[in-house]
Amino acid sequence: MSNNTKVGFLGLGHMGGPMAANLVKAGYDVLAFDPVPAAQDQARQDGATVVATAAEAVSASDIVITMLPNGRIVLDLYNEVLSAAKPGTLFVDCSTIDVADAKQAAELAAAAGHRALDAPVSGGVAGAAAGTLTFMVGGADADFADTLPLLEVMGGKVVHCGGAGVGQAAKICNNMLLGISMIGLSEAIVLGEKLGLTHDKFFDVVSTASGQSWALTSYCPVPGPVPTSPANNDYKPGFATALMNKDLGLAANALRANGVDGQIGQLAADIYNRFNQDEAGKDFSAIVTDIRKRSEGETK
Ligand code: NAD
Repeated sequence: MSNNTKVGFLGLGHMGGPMAANLVKAGYDVLAFDPVPAAQDQARQDGATVVATAAEAVSASDIVITMLPNGRIVLDLYNEVLSAAKPGTLFVDCSTIDVADAKQAAELAAAAGHRALDAPVSGGVAGAAAGTLTFMVGGADADFADTLPLLEVMGGKVVHCGGAGVGQAAKICNNMLLGISMIGLSEAIVLGEKLGLTHDKFFDVVSTASGQSWALTSYCPVPGPVPTSPANNDYKPGFATALMNKDLGLAANALRANGVDGQIGQLAADIYNRFNQDEAGKDFSAIVTDIRKRSEGETK
């Protein structure tokens, strides 16, 4: 796809807004739609052409990117706009949604004479703004090749993971593991506290020992050892508990749907689901504060 490519962009929220802005900066002609006026205003300021309906954005585009809250909204929107698209339009859904919904979206697009990829991201709002997201892509080789230049504008790493839905699979496998490792790390930290191990000494040992993890070395859930981690900023996200809760819910669905005996994955989903009821807006690493609170007064 060249810079003459017309890109429809649907969903201009925390992630979609800056992603669309990066496409404009790279010279793409972006037709943008979001029902929220503030998102429209920002997109206009960023140089996108804001249109009145999703169908309007789609009908004039060669490639359509969606960045939406959930699978139901993606499927409803596909049902609404597919008939407005030019034959062979490439639909690229970057939202995080259920693997089954991603496959259904690809089937709907194909049945309407179009092409589709799932291309969820990691890297958060900062990665979206900096154009350094990681894209995990599912779909056909030729469609991947056609989309790659755009994804490389918005991302620092793009991996073609497999066929339809396999990009979403990579995303939920990674985030399930992240949720599990953050809980495990936080339990170890609180146990260390009870046993008289300071956070600095914990970090000093574990960051280079067999318990090492990204959660510890890049995103330490207690203040001090990693100055950039949200723990140093009162757990302002970062990656909000609400989003981790959503992703673990998708992972738990996929465990069940595929007959995987994922006991720890399910437990992690349950733990974040409970934490989300009170602290949805806090960074997910604040789970350590919940574990600490629940462990008060237990020392024998
Ligand atoms: P958000 O709620 O900020 O943005 C979603 C946008 O979609 C909103 O502006 C909303 O108005 C718009 N929208 C809703 N229905 C629409 C429709 N029918 N047509 C057009 N626009 C519509 O959410 P976000 O944080 O930008 O996340 C978007 C997706 O990216 C989610 O699936 C999320 O799980 C995923 N994600 C988010 C992050 C993150 O850190 N925020 C990181 C990785 C992945």
